[in-house]
Amino acid sequence: RVLPSEPKRIGDCCSVTSERRKNTMDIHEYQAKDVLSNFGVTIAPGALAYSPEQAAYRARELGGDSWVVKAQVHAGGRGKAGGVKLCQSDQEIQAACEDMFGKKLVTHQTGPQGKGIYRVYVEAAVPIEREIYLGLVLDRSSQRVMIVASQEGGMEIEDISVEKPDSIVRSTVEPAVGLQEFQAREISFALGIEPPLVQQMVRTLKGCYRAFRDLDATMVEINPLVITGDGRILALDAKMTFDDNALFRHPQISELRDKSQEDPRESRAADRGLSYVGLDGNIGCIVNGAGLAMATMDTIKLAGGEPANFLDIGGGATPERVAKAFRLVMSDQNVQAVLVNIFAGINRCDWVAEGVVQALKEVQIDVPVVVRLAGTNVQEGQRILAQSGLPIIRATTLMEAAERAVGAWSNDLKQATRVRAVQ
Ligand code: GDP
Ligand code: MN
Repeated sequence: RVLPSEPKRIGDCCSVTSERRKNTMDIHEYQAKDVLSNFGVTIAPGALAYSPEQAAYRARELGGDSWVVKAQVHAGGRGKAGGVKLCQSDQEIQAACEDMFGKKLVTHQTGPQGKGIYRVYVEAAVPIEREIYLGLVLDRSSQRVMIVASQEGGMEIEDISVEKPDSIVRSTVEPAVGLQEFQAREISFALGIEPPLVQQMVRTLKGCYRAFRDLDATMVEINPLVITGDGRILALDAKMTFDDNALFRHPQISELRDKSQEDPRESRAADRGLSYVGLDGNIGCIVNGAGLAMATMDTIKLAGGEPANFLDIGGGATPERVAKAFRLVMSDQNVQAVLVNIFAGINRCDWVAEGVVQALKEVQIDVPVVVRLAGTNVQEGQRILAQSGLPIIRATTLMEAAERAVGAWSNDLKQATRVRAVQ
């Protein structure tokens, strides 16, 4: 995602960052299907494989004479990118798998770096008569779960909303009573489901809603939900995301996390209890508190620079935590200056200063470091920085700090030979 080109207004960074700062966890298609089938959604028989041989074996176990091999990555658009293949023999399955395992699948949702394929799902192929789009999302304006559906399944919802906006059916669920039978029937009729199949559609809709609500999901998407030639309604694809902050209530969902699918910078930060979002600029920010981080990024932009990240070390930061934050920021090759901005309420400026000094000694940081401290124990913090003998650029106000960080990298940039900390 690209930041607006000339943002000079306070708040420009906020929308970008809060969107990037997802606070959700994705799971794989096969996992979502398993979850949804426990809530009464029908799926085709399938099995997971970690190698081409295992995939062929799984297909034989499933029986039948045609199968679909599907790359399991946390992204949609696999079909068009070669991540979904229809196969009719052992050999075809093996060949399809050879093209997938260990490769990066690049779809329009993964970004150019793609996502690694380490698992495939083998499913009995299904004769499709009709494809339907079904999604459940949080609608922030009505503060309700909204069901979004369309007869134009198989296409992405973004494309449907441009090309066939009139085909989209929307229905919000009243949380006090949940999804009602009549409401589910209304949605089914609006989708043109034939009367004998309406009961199946109602069960599917109610199952998706209950899964969404009971598991604190933020999104359920079945695209396509298909009607087969023999009159069955099946989820052929499935995607679910969950609210991070509610995962403690669902250990069985929490276990489904697959770190191979996450941005390594962000999962490394999450493991260390730091809140981090990688951005596209070159000024690394170490800040306490999300609001202050937003303000810091805005001020950097106001001073003519671009933030390289959003890093919130939180309250009560120990020197070790500050050092960790430095290591993380410095592992981003784009960082050409670091701006530490701490407003210490719960934090203590002397601890943060010690952390900065410790990090600069350990991590061999060869880019300018600007530190602005305010709040608890600020004098002691300043003294530690001044007496360290390290080339730390100190600033009093946030604006001054941002200007110095922006100025520092443009001046010091050329002669910098860069030593990078790993981890
Ligand atoms: P996505 O591209 O990542 O959304 O992956 P999908 O699971 O949606 O698969 C892409 C497309 O492959 C679907 O829209 C279907 O048209 C097709 N497909 C998937 N499974 C089957 C199957 O069992 N039979 C048939 N005929 N087509 C399938
Ligand atoms: Mn799909």
